[in-house]
Amino acid sequence: MTQTKKDRLEQIAADIKAKNICPDLAETANTLVMGDGNANADIVFIGEAPGKNEDEQGLPFVGAAGKFLNEMLGTIGMVRDDIYITNIVKYRPPNNRDPLPDEKKAFWPYLIRQIEVIEPKIIVTLGRHSMEYFLPNFKISAVHGQPKRIQFGSEKVVILPLYHPAAALYNGALRQTLMEDFNTIPIILEKCNERNK
Ligand code: URA
Repeated sequence: MTQTKKDRLEQIAADIKAKNICPDLAETANTLVMGDGNANADIVFIGEAPGKNEDEQGLPFVGAAGKFLNEMLGTIGMVRDDIYITNIVKYRPPNNRDPLPDEKKAFWPYLIRQIEVIEPKIIVTLGRHSMEYFLPNFKISAVHGQPKRIQFGSEKVVILPLYHPAAALYNGALRQTLMEDFNTIPIILEKCNERNK
């Protein structure tokens, strides 16, 4: 029987548990936070790591940053079910500290597998932690809002680096910049669709 995308995503979660990835984080976190949304989405958003609310609910971006993200999706006529959303690190780091380089490295192959299952046209990285793996040697302050087409396995995919909504939430200037960058998503998607015609 052929596996559905949902089955394949569930298998990735099972593999993370079976391989005991980041046992220290697994020990302190409540649960594994894999992802949410539509497995057939054209756009995948990638954040940093779950926070307190995400760890409690088992879903990414359900706290204040997630609420802001939902608002921005609304301004471009989308809802959560139009996209897929995940994080580079799948367990909450204690006290919401930044994920460590080794933790990001350990989870990277599983993020790649998620992307291979979903096959998005656009990957939106939220903040520098998820950007640095796709666009190494770039600084977010210089490159935010600029779509970059990169080779991803046998396919090309567009990476759109954005500021993290949590960083922009209480910073007026950054908030404005993030909202402006966010508003370019439909244009980028249209260009991707034109290219594939
Ligand atoms: N910040 C993130 O990077 N990810 C979440 O899931 C929540 C907040």
